[in-house]
Amino acid sequence: MAERVDVQRVEKSDAEWSKQLNKQEFQVLRKKGTEPARTGEYDKFYPSEGHFVCRCCGTPLYSAKAKFDSGCGWPAFDKCYTGAVKTEIDNSFGMRRIEIMCAACDGHLGHVFENEGFSATMERHCVNSVSVKYIPENMNAEESKVVDGNVVSSAMGIFSSPLIPALLGVYVLSDVVGKGINFFTERGAR
Ligand SMILES: [Zn+2]
Repeated sequence: MAERVDVQRVEKSDAEWSKQLNKQEFQVLRKKGTEPARTGEYDKFYPSEGHFVCRCCGTPLYSAKAKFDSGCGWPAFDKCYTGAVKTEIDNSFGMRRIEIMCAACDGHLGHVFENEGFSATMERHCVNSVSVKYIPENMNAEESKVVDGNVVSSAMGIFSSPLIPALLGVYVLSDVVGKGINFFTERGAR
């Protein structure tokens, strides 16, 4: 039985992080930046063994087997090590996206997109190459989806509400009934 990865809280100031990270790593991981598409060292890198850790704090985040080719220009994973990645709603740039971060140090990884049909988990973790580091050794750790029911419903908002199909049903029904009444009143008038 696979164990959960050990996630130990790491807190450092920007000044401390900037000493151990290069400029691009600092911009992406600590300032929520994004590396240009198709430039990352792991974009087209598909190892069959090993895993990826957070480049800030070394916490194991993704197995190499979870990595897949999404064609989007950044590394993509369909699941993460349980508890190692956390989410937050990101409303920047006029979009509503789910940001993913290292659960230990809050390092920005990228965003997670759902229901695109790439794999059974229906998740695509779109991760900056500079946010992670490849380690050739395998880990036997539990993996799971990162988005729980709560995040899905808050991200989907009104569309996941059962009220919408119910209202739509009443609208369609009233339209059908209305047409029926018109049909009979027209016949009666002749
Ligand atoms: Zn970290």
